[in-house]
Amino acid sequence: MSVSYINKITITKGDITRENVDAIVNAANSGLRGGGGVDGAIHSAGGPKILEECMVIISKIGRLETGEAVITSAGNLKAKYVIHTVGPIWHGGDKNEETLLANAYRNSLKLASENKIKTIAFSNISTGVYGFPKKLASKIAFNTVIESLKNYEAIEKVKFVCFDDYNYKLYVNLLNDVI
Ligand code: ADP
Repeated sequence: MSVSYINKITITKGDITRENVDAIVNAANSGLRGGGGVDGAIHSAGGPKILEECMVIISKIGRLETGEAVITSAGNLKAKYVIHTVGPIWHGGDKNEETLLANAYRNSLKLASENKIKTIAFSNISTGVYGFPKKLASKIAFNTVIESLKNYEAIEKVKFVCFDDYNYKLYVNLLNDVI
């Protein structure tokens, strides 16, 4: 694993709505309607503009499929953009959940690159209400991001913003294991 990509990764604990990065990645639902968890936090801190843009997108595409990503502005947040991706709901592991979670990270980075985003913060997609096991999710997130960064040299910094202690520990351990 190349050290140069590892050097682009940071792990923090806290509220992603406060992140001063080009884009934050929201764990959205397929209707892009906002909801609880990180999605609710982003819409309430960012204001109504984000939801308005989400509704324009939904009027064009109908629904956002699991593993796909779209981008809006970030309203009142410090970030410039919100990338909305839909992680899989955990059904026990035999419904392609691992691939779909990797796709959510991969497609978010692709969209970031297409929009000239240099710094990006990810929430721990699918590990709240969607019930994806946190340890497995952290490994998929971490490995997928490292792999994808090879394709997107212009992305300078990726932050994993962990909300709970357990996720934070998982990501710190993953990073410590490779440096
Ligand atoms: P999902 O439906 O994809 O599981 P959730 O929002 O329920 O999405 O949870 C995803 C992760 O986001 C969880 O680990 C949760 O602890 C975390 N989370 C909740 N609020 C915030 C926040 N303000 N900033 C960062 N992460 C958050």
